[in-house]
Amino acid sequence: MNSAKRHEIFACLKSANPHPTTELEYRSPFELLIAVILSAQATDKSVNLATRKLFPQASTPEKILALGEQGLTEFIKSIGLYKTKAKNILATCQLLIQQHHSKVPRTREQLEKLPGVGRKTANVILNTAFGEPTIAVDTHIFRIANRTGIAPGKNVLEVELKLLKVVPKEFRLDAHHWLILHGRYVCKARKPECAVCKINHLCEYKNKTI
Ligand code: SF4
Repeated sequence: MNSAKRHEIFACLKSANPHPTTELEYRSPFELLIAVILSAQATDKSVNLATRKLFPQASTPEKILALGEQGLTEFIKSIGLYKTKAKNILATCQLLIQQHHSKVPRTREQLEKLPGVGRKTANVILNTAFGEPTIAVDTHIFRIANRTGIAPGKNVLEVELKLLKVVPKEFRLDAHHWLILHGRYVCKARKPECAVCKINHLCEYKNKTI
């Protein structure tokens, strides 16, 4: 795919949704961090249902730690992998208190040292909480990057590094959200809705559904 086409794809996505953001509900970098840890292999909707009850009760590392494993589990047990996530969240809260004055750190290196936080989660926090032009490649972005030809790659890291290189600078901050939302609602895994896709005329996928 050439750079003019890529530019047009992002211009189209932007004109349809000028201010994209995460569908996770949060009011602080800390709440976003907890929500993103909870969202691994779970829907944003299921996370929001849980955090709507959790955050009014506990929205700081100290308060979540005070809930203890059993108390935290009560709030998040409807979410997949909740047992592991509860352990990771409590260990993360402990580290935030001990090493970061109860604040969410702003560097990738520090973020990735927190239990339950991998490269993708660190990218989401850097991008959405701190406004860094990172691109967190999840299953949706991986699929779209390969299908459309925007940034083909064999694994998520390859796609991420390619996207960082080829997405025009003016679109880099929001690229991650445009692509996720496009994958979630239009370019779906099993049956992409090519008939209503705003970038159909630019997409290079060979097996479009129309
Ligand atoms: S045309 Fe189809 S395959 Fe291409 S981006 Fe749109 S929905 Fe996805």
